[in-house]
Amino acid sequence: MKRIYNFSSGPAALPEQVLRRAQEAIWDLDGSGIGILEHSHRGKEFGRVLARTERLIREVGGVGDDFAVMFVTAGATHHFAMVPENFLGPDTTADYVHTGVWSGKARDEAARYGRVHTAGTGEPAFTRVPTTLEWSATPAYCNETIYGTQFSAPPTGAPAPLVCDASSDIFSRPLALAGHGLIYAGAQKNLGPSGISLVIARKDFLERGRRDLPPLAQYRTYANEQSMHNTPNTFGVYVIGEVLQWIADQGGLVELERRNQAKAALLYAYLDQSTAFRPHAATDSRSMMNVTFRAATPALEAALLAEAEARGLSGLKGHRSVGGMRASIYNAFPEAGVKALVEVLDHVEHGRTSK
Ligand code: PMP
Repeated sequence: MKRIYNFSSGPAALPEQVLRRAQEAIWDLDGSGIGILEHSHRGKEFGRVLARTERLIREVGGVGDDFAVMFVTAGATHHFAMVPENFLGPDTTADYVHTGVWSGKARDEAARYGRVHTAGTGEPAFTRVPTTLEWSATPAYCNETIYGTQFSAPPTGAPAPLVCDASSDIFSRPLALAGHGLIYAGAQKNLGPSGISLVIARKDFLERGRRDLPPLAQYRTYANEQSMHNTPNTFGVYVIGEVLQWIADQGGLVELERRNQAKAALLYAYLDQSTAFRPHAATDSRSMMNVTFRAATPALEAALLAEAEARGLSGLKGHRSVGGMRASIYNAFPEAGVKALVEVLDHVEHGRTSK
């Protein structure tokens, strides 16, 4: 069966090596005669899978023992509420850096639990990540998938531990954990399947969290019980381990960053010289993972989407809330696919469609 170039923003393309190995493991995990979907989470086989995934996250990401690695059976949206529920009281304030749709949702959730302050905003067009920040208390920030912006480095000057929604760019470059209390990421972009999120948090930061919440609502439960308070998403943990092994096989995060920069540069270089297509994000805030752009006219946009589909390039339509186009080119997305997109853009711009 022919696989096509999948520009979806998530669930998104995964490395072929991972898909092939997962195929085998569904049938028979490591010669055990039982597939990964069927193994008990309390058995030694899954115990090895969990330990391996955590070890690889620590090795590949350079995550030290002062941080806990947790798997939460939920998407990133879950943490929009879980973070303030754990760390924000009614009389305390959290700073949010407002970079787009997702940070807006996270900030709205936090307002249920305490006070929120917008430390900086990319409004109205969200073409840039805000850099002039006015911190007041516990800050949170976000790399924005929908508008296609990314912090080139974590925000500085925060008076309290940073909390980061890293869903759109986790493990696309070396992790910069300094200054962070907690980072979370939905797995379905750079890590594995949907319905599971990775949380990396400082152990001393977790100690500050509320203790009167139900166990599964407290991060410390996941840290103290190795994400095994109840049945975890066993298949998700397995796939994340395979993805991390693939990253290690490629040469680690430094090499992936080099590749990701090269892929993104190809596409932005085309868009920058194009008169028909215009990139959305400002040069200093561009995401390597989500390249957002618009066509000069709706007709051109429709022509591009049709031509791309005809050539086996799928998932280029932008998020329903902002429109336009978005090419998600996460770690597993091949450079050949980016070149194919540039070719299609060029053909559509110069009126050379296949029809
Ligand atoms: N945060 C960011 C930055 C995202 O890109 C997304 C999903 N695209 C979410 C949160 C929401 O993730 P989920 O659907 O897993 O809750």
